[in-house]
Amino acid sequence: MLFKDITILDEDFEAQPHRWVGVEGAVITYIGDAAPADAARFGEAYDGRGKLLMPALYNAHSHAPMTLLRGYAENLPLQAWLEQKCWPFEAKMTPEDNYWACKLALAEMARFGVASMSDMYYATPERVQAVEEAHMKANLCEGLLAFEPKPYSEYPICQMNEQFVREYNGACDGRIVIDYNIHGEYTSNEQTCRDIVAIVKEKGLRLHIHASETRSEVEECRGRHGGLSPIGYFDSIGAFDVPCTAAHCVWVDEGDIAILADKGVFVANNPASNMKLASGFAPIPALLAAGANVCLGTDGMASNNNHDMFKDLYLMALIYKGSTLDPTVITPRQALAAATRMGALSQGRKDCGLVKEGFRADLCVLDTDGPSWCPCNDLLTNVVYAGHGSDVVLTMCDGAVVYRDGEYPGIDLERVEAEVAERTVRIQREL
Ligand SMILES: [Zn+2]
Repeated sequence: MLFKDITILDEDFEAQPHRWVGVEGAVITYIGDAAPADAARFGEAYDGRGKLLMPALYNAHSHAPMTLLRGYAENLPLQAWLEQKCWPFEAKMTPEDNYWACKLALAEMARFGVASMSDMYYATPERVQAVEEAHMKANLCEGLLAFEPKPYSEYPICQMNEQFVREYNGACDGRIVIDYNIHGEYTSNEQTCRDIVAIVKEKGLRLHIHASETRSEVEECRGRHGGLSPIGYFDSIGAFDVPCTAAHCVWVDEGDIAILADKGVFVANNPASNMKLASGFAPIPALLAAGANVCLGTDGMASNNNHDMFKDLYLMALIYKGSTLDPTVITPRQALAAATRMGALSQGRKDCGLVKEGFRADLCVLDTDGPSWCPCNDLLTNVVYAGHGSDVVLTMCDGAVVYRDGEYPGIDLERVEAEVAERTVRIQREL
């Protein structure tokens, strides 16, 4: 595809009007202020007037099949929400339920400009199938609740994960990546955690964890581990000596922030989920000031309840001004970097997340003709504070269109919606 005469956010997130951007295969091969000499080689010419071309978004922390629980567990404190609502519901979900719910999540993400997710859940083969069919990207980890004090090798998931790495890691021209998971300090015994870290290190993979989401989680961890916070504990067992995405990091102190920054941990901020479950406000300004890698996620649909990352982008750019009483913290540039480039890096995708020649064509196009885009004193500010996910008219992943003007080339949305609606009713009947 050749995007003609379109405004872009360049690799520094500066607005550049009247650009031609050419995509061949999975890669952006041309960016210029005039049409390339041999325009026909790019295939379809896309009229970019009145449109913005920017990097697609990367959802750095999700539980995609939890779309089945959208609106099911509301107005509850986190522990009751998890133990009384989410876990019993999830225990009834079949691999096929996971497939259809994941497909719905991917449709919703594509609709709102997301090309890739870091997804922590079960039913990895079904999620791989859904991602492959949608022609999107994902770093997938198989979730593990390891309450029993035994080595990782005695959990059946140990062999399953080895098989997933063999079969799926790097599949679909690298669009599928298999990560390892430690659900959280409070749900995993230490021996298992140490074993998982050793495997991740040996195989050169990545780790995806939850950490310091609630105040009580941190207090209980300190009681169990000689005063160590979850961040201190994970650091002590080597979890940050491998590439790691740590979701939440809400209740982190100065010492934790220094560890996260020094070790290059990717902190996945989930502002909607943290507010909805009343977990609190992560110290994102302090993390950024310390040089930490901050990316952005939606978390699961029982605590958000949507995959419109433009909403999370807006919240991230807004709420920390309120929580710190400082209107200068979190610039639009920092927020958009978290939602795009930093998310790509958190997935180990160094050639993704920017509109740049030689980079993978993970892109979204926004219609900027509407009233909320006028006037355009600063395009980046409009994207973050005035833009909506529904302004997205096209999402591209590795050069393939995955959403365009209401159509999903890799997803039969009508069928998916019918399956999901039927399956959530069945599960609730079984409970
Ligand atoms: Zn989560």
